[in-house]
Amino acid sequence: MSFSACVLTLYPEMFPGALGLSLAGRALEAGTWSLEAIQIRDFATDRHRTVDDTPAGGGAGMVMRADVLAKAIDHASPEGDLRPRLLMSPRGKPLTQRRVRELAAGPGAVILCGRFEGVDQRVIDARGLEEVSIGDFILSGGEPAALVLLDAVVRLLPGVMGNAVSGEEESFENRLLEHPHYTRPQEFEGREIPVVLISGNHKKIAAWRRAESEALTRARRPDLLENGKTNND
Ligand code: SAH
Repeated sequence: MSFSACVLTLYPEMFPGALGLSLAGRALEAGTWSLEAIQIRDFATDRHRTVDDTPAGGGAGMVMRADVLAKAIDHASPEGDLRPRLLMSPRGKPLTQRRVRELAAGPGAVILCGRFEGVDQRVIDARGLEEVSIGDFILSGGEPAALVLLDAVVRLLPGVMGNAVSGEEESFENRLLEHPHYTRPQEFEGREIPVVLISGNHKKIAAWRRAESEALTRARRPDLLENGKTNND
């Protein structure tokens, strides 16, 4: 069974976008995963096909209407659909490699992309949407966030990555940032490749990489090394 993604958006033309190229694009063509982009506006009921309205209580901007979104969600994800329903949102739980791995192991995802000031709280509650953030910054819409999430998931699907091992040794998979990489030429603008890497001594190389990983993590992301719960759990 392949991973089935459905994106609800006011800009379906943004999909598959970058995911139509490279590894993800090839996997899409091969049927390893599927992607449907649904136009939310098709579920508006009035003459002007309105999807948003002014915020109750006043304030700037517009809010996406609960009734229109509910219709779109019910069409995309009828009762019995086992796929999680996600809402891309800066208020959501920050996306982690752990959640990405869980999603990749599941049947797919239905992903709602917000626009304007966001969406009416009642549809989040009524349809049990899981809010997911891709970081502490504000995008103009959920579409780039959905592309980021799907990119991270699709590369983990069986057969997508040429070299499966490289997927397991990466940053976050073992609570460490990855060690630095080098390749030819041997000398670049006076900078040499660290000698240990050309020693051919695999034990030493592994030890060096581990030490580099730990030093880098300590300097940049000490939170990953702290005992107990991390952002990756
Ligand atoms: N007023 C909102 C921001 C709305 S940004 C607030 O302050 O929380 C418009 C839409 O972009 C959001 O509904 C969401 O779908 C998307 N978005 C913005 N930043 C995001 C982020 N960091 N992660 C995921 N989605 C984001």
